[in-house]
Amino acid sequence: MRAEFPDFRLGKVLATSFTGTLSERHGDAVERIPTPQRLVDWLVVNGLAVGSCTAAQLDLARELRESIHAVATAAAIQDALPASAVQVINDCSARGRAAAVLTPEGQRRWRLSSASRVEDALGVIAADAISIVAGERDGKLALCASPTCQAAFFDTSQSRTRKWCDMNTCGNRQKKARFNANQRKNLRAVD
Ligand SMILES: [Zn+2]
Repeated sequence: MRAEFPDFRLGKVLATSFTGTLSERHGDAVERIPTPQRLVDWLVVNGLAVGSCTAAQLDLARELRESIHAVATAAAIQDALPASAVQVINDCSARGRAAAVLTPEGQRRWRLSSASRVEDALGVIAADAISIVAGERDGKLALCASPTCQAAFFDTSQSRTRKWCDMNTCGNRQKKARFNANQRKNLRAVD
């Protein structure tokens, strides 16, 4: 029987979807890529299908993930970018050998080289993070308002006032907490 793993939280932005594979960093952390196979699964869902993944490649992926998280967090609060994390992102970007290819339908796909394919996929993710932090894309880095989450996410809303990394999880939880607090207040008012 296959073990049950936490679901992926899929966003529209590759780099921050990737950092979202670890959630609740300031609470009970949820690791969504606990095994090399789960990283393979995540990459497939995100258009970066790889043949296999080793434990060392998973470690590298997690190192990249936490580096993107650190850099994106610093960028969101306009702090200096942590040098070692920048180095990890740059190394991953330089090591990747993926090529962007255009399909006959006019869509971009990533073609990974046959060797060291996880590294190619990580290179694509690292380059995506670079383009966001460098302000090349339409949107703004922000931190999730949930105190147990504080994930860096890329706000592409028109007003740039998105508060949560994910409406279905953090947003909902916050709404429920507010609702419960109001209920308690109302009950007290009755007393
Ligand atoms: Zn969140």
